[in-house]
Amino acid sequence: MTVAKGREFLSIPGPTNVPDAVLAAMQRPAIDIYSGEMVGITDSCLADLKALFKTGGRTYIYAANGHGGWEAALTNVLSRGDTVLALASGRFAIGWGEMARMMGVEVEVLDAGWRRAVDPAAVEERLRRDKGGAIKALLAVQIDTASGVVNDIAAIRRAIDAAGHPALLMVDCVASLGCVPFDMDGWGVDVAMAGSQKGLMTPPGLAFVAANDRARKVHERAGLRTLYWDWTFREGPIHYQKYCGTPPEHLLFGLRKALDLLKEEGLDAAVERHRLLAEATRAAVARWAEGQVLSFNIANPAERANSITCILMQGRNPEPLLDYCRDRCGVVLGIGLGELSDKAFRIAHMGHTNAPMVLGTLGAVEMGLKALAIPHGSGGVQAAVDYLGREVAA
Ligand SMILES: *Cc1c(COP(=O)(O)O)cnc(C)c1O
Repeated sequence: MTVAKGREFLSIPGPTNVPDAVLAAMQRPAIDIYSGEMVGITDSCLADLKALFKTGGRTYIYAANGHGGWEAALTNVLSRGDTVLALASGRFAIGWGEMARMMGVEVEVLDAGWRRAVDPAAVEERLRRDKGGAIKALLAVQIDTASGVVNDIAAIRRAIDAAGHPALLMVDCVASLGCVPFDMDGWGVDVAMAGSQKGLMTPPGLAFVAANDRARKVHERAGLRTLYWDWTFREGPIHYQKYCGTPPEHLLFGLRKALDLLKEEGLDAAVERHRLLAEATRAAVARWAEGQVLSFNIANPAERANSITCILMQGRNPEPLLDYCRDRCGVVLGIGLGELSDKAFRIAHMGHTNAPMVLGTLGAVEMGLKALAIPHGSGGVQAAVDYLGREVAA
């Protein structure tokens, strides 16, 4: 028996749901890469990305996924033999660091573990001990998609300043840009990066990097620069240089439309929508947790991300629940990653999502909990509905 036919609900944390309007914008012939419309699309996307990152610095668009964005950020400011400090709070800062290590960069990991945010005091303490200034950059992740944590980037900058340390602050915003507040210049972030396929509602394949003047100064002497990622080359006068080759035209048509949708909604409204849908999800999970099997991976409520919720399952493999939701209900949930594989599942509420999509996903999970006789407090979906009914004014 299945009730899975109909539109599949993709509730994984990337790629996320692509709006029909974005897909439609991509459905068109290729155009000239040297003139008119294409040049205008590039210029407007670069400008809108500056507004999204909140920076007066430079932005760059790469034909690449998030990993490409990581590489772009690293190669432009680092040299072989440099040391970076990866601020781990799950999987992604470690992944970024692994990439740096392969380039000949020394990587030290300051690990907060899988259930907590990065502790700014620990960052300050480590940097104070780096008397010779060996650490050239800090790799931080705003929302770690694997653990479901949100890190306080402004507090990390204050910790760096308190230690009087000159290292660059580099931040991964792949799972947070367009979902939660980010203020590159206000928070003193030197390099930020993101991808197209999470909060930005565009198919995978574009990476974005933003750099301030400080980072661009360091860039002048970086030894790991390669032509494809190179900021200086991409700042050149010819449009062709902006992508170091043929622009990924159709992805850019999609991105242009997605940025228009985001502007139409308003960034603040999108952030508030993410907060409301995340709170609704958490209201359901809190109810389910009464059954003593499910629990929040992130213990401190203030550190739970508004784009992704990671749910632990005590003593059970979540696979049957995920199979049930996919095969019987048409809802695809995120698996646990790394240390949490076979121990957790994830519900994304990121990008192009609304109340019925989140409530539908929560409903399918609750159906699965019932069908598989997994102990849980009942009324999770009701708690989510009650929350939204209270918070979203008529
Ligand atoms: C998804 C993700 C990445 C990697 O992006 P890819 O497009 O899969 O390479 C990096 N960082 C974070 C926080 C992510 O969520």
